[in-house]
Formats: sequence, structure tokens, C-alpha cells
Amino acid sequence: MKIGLWSDCHNFPSLPAMKLSAYHKSLGDEVELFFRFNHYDLVYASKVFSFTEDIDVYPVYADEIRKGGSGYCITVENGKEIFDESKNVSLPKEIEHIYPDYSLYPGYKYATGFLTRGCPRGCDFCIVARKEGKRSVQVADLSEFWRGQKEIKLLDPNLIACKDHERLLQQLADSKATIDFTQGIDIRLLTADNIKLLNQVKAKNLHFAWDNPHDDLEKYFVRYSELGKIKDHRRLIVYCLTNYNSTFEEDLYRIETLRRLGYNPYVMIYQKETAPENVKRLQRWCNNRIIFQSCEFKDYKS
Ligand code: SF4
Repeated sequence: MKIGLWSDCHNFPSLPAMKLSAYHKSLGDEVELFFRFNHYDLVYASKVFSFTEDIDVYPVYADEIRKGGSGYCITVENGKEIFDESKNVSLPKEIEHIYPDYSLYPGYKYATGFLTRGCPRGCDFCIVARKEGKRSVQVADLSEFWRGQKEIKLLDPNLIACKDHERLLQQLADSKATIDFTQGIDIRLLTADNIKLLNQVKAKNLHFAWDNPHDDLEKYFVRYSELGKIKDHRRLIVYCLTNYNSTFEEDLYRIETLRRLGYNPYVMIYQKETAPENVKRLQRWCNNRIIFQSCEFKDYKS
């Protein structure tokens, strides 16, 4: 069979596409990234975002198209994300757990994958708990998707919430690879013991989040500052959600507190189109590292 693999991720490799490629190549099929003017027996379309164009807004020369991904099971209605469970398609086990075919994207040299899936927090604005479950559970060992690459991009939504996280952190430390935790480390779940393990991991940087201004997270950030190995604020990034159940004063408070504690706040705006102008200004000020380091918000003129 001739297989085409399409994804709406244009800036980074599609993990489902790499797994599908490995699987179909193991069956002896011919596999390539989708090219619109070729004919395929089967095309897989993987969509991450609900706002991007679908594959079949233009003609597709294929006998069959199979679609999957968050971009198909989430729609936005009146500014609210609606999750359609019936469209939540998972890869079959034998494909989900296959070693990805990294050769599909020759320009990318890192390994990538999930050690865990799911998150117990269930934040209203986030799809993870509804899509993957309200528990963080181990789904793989590192060896399932890593074979000596120098860098690993982890996609786990909440690794630290998994009961097996210490063993998984040990696997990451033992790999000696540079680890990019692309999603957040749950600051509330860091303890003296797991920070010690995290310190053994060659982390590129750490991403945390302080999304809800009503959560008093200051003491947790203080604890990581005291016990964590990374001291450079540029490598300690904290996402701060705004325009979602917070006042402007609460947004500014989180940002200033994080700066005082030696972190690098990064403003995310929920539904930016509807956000007030002062929140957009706050984002422009805070997310521009040079401006943020050089002045207070009250002195920012723009
Ligand atoms: S903690 Fe993060 S991953 Fe978990 S539900 Fe909230 S936003 Fe999503």
C-alpha cells in the first residue's frame, strides 16, 4: 500500500505520524509525508489544533482518509471549547507503543514521546483530563522511544503527578540526554526527594504554571528555589494564564512575585481576541525579556 501522512503541525514533527510510519514500514508499505498531488491507498490526517485547516478543504487523492487528534475532537463554540468524546480516536496498542520512525523528519535529531498520560488537576480551560483521564499514569518506559539521542523532548502533561514519577525521573537522569520538559512541571507536587532526582536530570529548562491566581503557590516556588539545581531565571519559565477568572491586579501580582523569586514569568492570554488592552500590554511587556528586565510595568510605555 502507499501511505500518506498529513499533520497540521508544520513547525514540529508529528509523533502519531512517526509511529504510523514505523508501523506501516514494518508491514512493507510505502510511506511518505503527504504530498497533495500524489495518489494514496490510505492517508492518515493528524490534527492538533481546532483552528487550523483540515486536510480535505482541498482535494485529496486517496482511497481512504483516517482522521485523529485533538483538532478533530475539540471545537470552539461561543468562545468555549467543546470536547466530542466520539471523535477521540486513539492509536491501536501495537502502533502506540512502537519505536517512532524518526527518519520521517530528517531535520530533527531528538527523541520525543510520552512517559505518562493524563492529569488529575482537571483545569477548566484544559482538555487533558477529559481526553486522557483524570489520573497521570505511566504509559511507557524511556527505552520505548529513546535510543541514545542527545536530546529528548518529553510531552507528558503532568509527569510528577504519576505515582511512578521517581522511577521515570531516574530513567531520564540515567539517559544523560538533555531533557526538554515541554509541558509543565507541577510545582505543588515537588518535594525534597523528587527535587533531588530532578537535579540529576540534565534539564534544558523547566516550565511551571501559575494559572489560577487563587492558588497560593509562592511557598512552592520558594521551595524549588532553595532546593533546585537550576538558578538561572531564564531557564525557569512559569506560564501565567490571564483573561480567565483573574483581575488585572492578580495578573500583575503573580508576575511580580515570580520575578522577585527568581523565575521567568510568561503571560498566556485566554481568548486573546476578547482580551482587554491592558492584558495585551502586560503580555507585550512581560514576554519581551529585554523590556521586562529593564523596567517595571508602570513605566512601560506602549
Ligand atoms: S495542570 Fe496542566 S495539564 Fe493538568 S489539567 Fe491543568 S493545565 Fe491541564
